[in-house]
Amino acid sequence: MTTIRTIDNATVIDWILRYAAKIAANKDLLTTLDAAIGDADHGLNMDRGFEEVRQRLAAHVTDDFGQLFKTIGMTLLSKVGGASGPLYGTLFLRMGMASADKTELTPNEFAAALAGGVEGIRQRGSARPGDKTMVDALLPAVLALQQALDNYATLCDALKAASAAAEAGMKATIPMQASKGRASYLGPRSIGHQDPGATSAYLLILSAAEVFCETADENQ
Ligand code: ADP
Ligand code: MG
Repeated sequence: MTTIRTIDNATVIDWILRYAAKIAANKDLLTTLDAAIGDADHGLNMDRGFEEVRQRLAAHVTDDFGQLFKTIGMTLLSKVGGASGPLYGTLFLRMGMASADKTELTPNEFAAALAGGVEGIRQRGSARPGDKTMVDALLPAVLALQQALDNYATLCDALKAASAAAEAGMKATIPMQASKGRASYLGPRSIGHQDPGATSAYLLILSAAEVFCETADENQ
């Protein structure tokens, strides 16, 4: 398989549209998970936000990555309620800052932008690994992504490794006791439930793996 050398705007838009579709398909799952340890709105929050993102992207004209990610981030900040809106908004705003004025990204630039976004979430929410949040899926994912690229994996294979790491991180939230966000109010009663934000975070990385691997196939 040949590697895609650079990533264009259309592929990133496909990633976000794939994610929006996955959020819509998993809305009830995310809400059910949030019902167990939160306030049963994570699926609704994310679906409302990404439906709005989908509409904004249909009217998106520039191919500057800075503008693209900023549009996504600002939309999520304004449309997604709860803790997850500002956190996912920060992820995309940081990705926009890392890729301002660029119309193409190398796999390493994409990985660095995503890692910067996850760092933004950590700063904004001050969650550490093990706190039972989206960070428990996102941090292993960006580490696996960078490690695979450092070992000369294709972007497709590196994102598959990242997706597997995010899935493992998501499942690892089940036995954790929450120390951040609404679930932390439950104390030990938060143990035994999968974190909703870690679940939506896994879907984000899974969507990237699916879409970037399809693009790689087209380039064969
Ligand atoms: P809310 O908890 O305000 O209702 P959501 O239900 O949309 O917001 O999102 C809940 C998810 O947000 C949690 O499952 C968790 O993954 C994530 N979360 C909450 N607080 C934090 C934080 N401080 N840092 C990182 N993620 C967090
Ligand atoms: Mg909630």
